[in-house]
Amino acid sequence: MITCQACGTENPPGADFCSQCARKLDAQTQEEILRTRTAHTTTGLAWARVAYAVIAAVVIILVIVFVVAHVL
Ligand SMILES: [Zn+2]
Repeated sequence: MITCQACGTENPPGADFCSQCARKLDAQTQEEILRTRTAHTTTGLAWARVAYAVIAAVVIILVIVFVVAHVL
């Protein structure tokens, strides 16, 4: 959503002009919002990757311990 800076009406993404007062909407603000959202998503993915790596490491260690305990 792009909030009109003149009247506060929320316009659909990609809109060039406000549907209420026909003021030109600031495309830069929309880009900044998208950039912030992308940054947050990337951070979330990075944490998910770390979590998966830790889980994978724990599973591998458990498998090694299990195999060693049965072989010895
Ligand atoms: Zn407006």
